[in-house]
Amino acid sequence: MAKGLEERVLGLLRGGKLVRKGDRVLVSVSGGKDSAVAAWVLAKRAGELGIDVGLLHIDLGIPGYSEESRAAVEALRERLDAPLHVHEIEKEWGLALPEIARKLKKAPCHVCGTLKRYYQNVLAKELGYNVLATGHNLDDSVGFIVNNFITGQVKQTHKISPLLPETELTSRKIKPLFWIQGRETEGYATEKGIPFTRCSCPFQKQSPTHVIREAFDRVEELRPGAKKSFVKNVLRALPGKGETTSPSACELCGAPTSGKVCTVCRMKKRLWAGGFQLGQQ
Ligand code: SF4
Ligand code: ZN
Repeated sequence: MAKGLEERVLGLLRGGKLVRKGDRVLVSVSGGKDSAVAAWVLAKRAGELGIDVGLLHIDLGIPGYSEESRAAVEALRERLDAPLHVHEIEKEWGLALPEIARKLKKAPCHVCGTLKRYYQNVLAKELGYNVLATGHNLDDSVGFIVNNFITGQVKQTHKISPLLPETELTSRKIKPLFWIQGRETEGYATEKGIPFTRCSCPFQKQSPTHVIREAFDRVEELRPGAKKSFVKNVLRALPGKGETTSPSACELCGAPTSGKVCTVCRMKKRLWAGGFQLGQQ
């Protein structure tokens, strides 16, 4: 009989050395099913794994969607009895995500991804968590790989791994659901009564990655196991998979970056150059 989701996740956590005794793990929770399941398994098994678990929610300020997401995260926090750290984009920037994207003339998902990665990295360190866990699943890996090949960012693909070791500026990054499909997390979350929102972000339909994931769902129906073998074969073919280059500190904010100034500081500079002041509505 095929192993259940929880057993497979625990197998990866232990076998892949994603977590070790004494780790402080911050799980980035969006309010959706995947990160809720990742947080659930880590928190419910925290005792036997010897870890402490906290939750991080980045409130994007997307009308309708963000309120629902925040409510689901609060309900999850109550069920898991874990500390919850919330970072509100609008409080810091004076603008919610859709307006930031509009003013920068960038796709909302591009800005969203950049801001989420930035605050996950910075807050995990600031709050004293040596591990950052996300709800990325097999479908996300498929979307990431295909999108990188479409956009010519093939080099980025080597970053794909269930574990990226910590560096001086970043916590260890883990993806407990690396080999789990989205439809499996939905089934598990429903069965266990895990709080999550089914409300979709209004920008989801504009995301090419979302369309790629839908297409691969159809391929998987025709050929079960297709997603897993696709990711496995790409990983096998890539030299230096899972390798990270040590980031340097942003000259302006100290956050990890591959250049001199991080993308978020450059975004802020562009907004200010357009006459915008932080805190201005
Ligand atoms: Fe962010 Fe795009 Fe996902 Fe919405 S669909 S939460 S904007 S990445
Ligand atoms: Zn910076």
